[in-house]
Amino acid sequence: MINKSKIKFFDYKPIINTSPENWYNWKWQLKNSLKTIEDFSLHFKLSNQESNGFKISKNKFKIQVSPYYASLVNKDNPSDPVRTTFMPNELEGYNGLQQQLDPLGEQNNNPTPRVIHRYPDRALFLVTDICSLYCRYCTRKHFTAKDQASVSSSDYEQALNYFKNHSEIREVLLSGGDPLTLSNDKLEKIIHDLYQIPHIEIIRVGSRIPATLPMRIDNELISIFKKYKPVYFMTHFNHPNEITTYSAEKLELLVDNGIPVFNQMVLLNGVNNHPALIQALSRRLLYLRVKPYYMFQCDPSRGSDHFRTPVEESKSIQKQLWGVISGLAMPNLSLDIPSGGGKVGITPNFLQKVEGNSYYYKGWDGVEEVYKSPAADKSISPFVAATYQTEWNSLIKN
Ligand code: SF4
Repeated sequence: MINKSKIKFFDYKPIINTSPENWYNWKWQLKNSLKTIEDFSLHFKLSNQESNGFKISKNKFKIQVSPYYASLVNKDNPSDPVRTTFMPNELEGYNGLQQQLDPLGEQNNNPTPRVIHRYPDRALFLVTDICSLYCRYCTRKHFTAKDQASVSSSDYEQALNYFKNHSEIREVLLSGGDPLTLSNDKLEKIIHDLYQIPHIEIIRVGSRIPATLPMRIDNELISIFKKYKPVYFMTHFNHPNEITTYSAEKLELLVDNGIPVFNQMVLLNGVNNHPALIQALSRRLLYLRVKPYYMFQCDPSRGSDHFRTPVEESKSIQKQLWGVISGLAMPNLSLDIPSGGGKVGITPNFLQKVEGNSYYYKGWDGVEEVYKSPAADKSISPFVAATYQTEWNSLIKN
């Protein structure tokens, strides 16, 4: 049980008056999701920018939020940070700096319709295009919410054959869309089929559902993950207000059952771009044994310019957190090079100057000292057993 006296989780009041049987049923939540301006107007005082957003988003990017998630935000204040992540806004129609429908260049690394293979030993399997909620800053607008639902049998066979024929792939990340919008039966079949492939060592499940629809995390789902271990769970919380006692209990359920959980957040302008919010989010996650893993610079996806933070500001936020929160709580600030260049880490620079082998640093709280590096000719090559060398060679040859 969570010790609530140590950490304060966000309190919410359901926006719909219904029985607990309904409220805690994920299918009821999906069925009663808000999708149209009429649905939203019943519960929210919409600003002009938001009302115009509904017109602009039509035929561009679907709108949907579960009653649970809609309950986490202020109904009267359009500036509520979490509200802006799912509420359409006329700013989505503005031409931005560098907007792209596919900012990660995934369509250039798409050997079969549902597979994205960019890095040597891991690949993405897009198992559905459906999400429980459509984040306005989504980076995969070229695929998500296109009413394709689950994979056709021929696309499924092509994907499995691709994984079978590429022995360098050790990790498969189930993504989409949100894999947890699939039924347990479908999800289990995918995990089962992938683990029949001898070289697949790890399956990761990428899902925003612990934040947006936590009732989906039930005992049956947990038993599937346990049966096919290792399954790593990559979730996506952006703001401490997303961590309610209920979602915290669901994260605990995953971890208590031996499923490692990592959080990948996106730095979003006007939503979470402040060190106080990142520390609050990271502290709560870490307490729940969820490792804050990535803090992504928002990608230049279509209609999301207003969510992007200046790179210098992102760096400054991470620098302010450095040393103040523990290394365990610190997410890695990272940016995807547009058009498929891959991820690059962005770290604060503490190095002041280099003189010969002397590296002069100024630390997070201002302490200055020199680190004297051994000369390059002092490096000793360790013995590398053939097994490890072969593994390494197989990675770098691809
Ligand atoms: S849950 Fe993920 S895939 Fe779905 S809309 Fe949000 S960011 Fe995009």
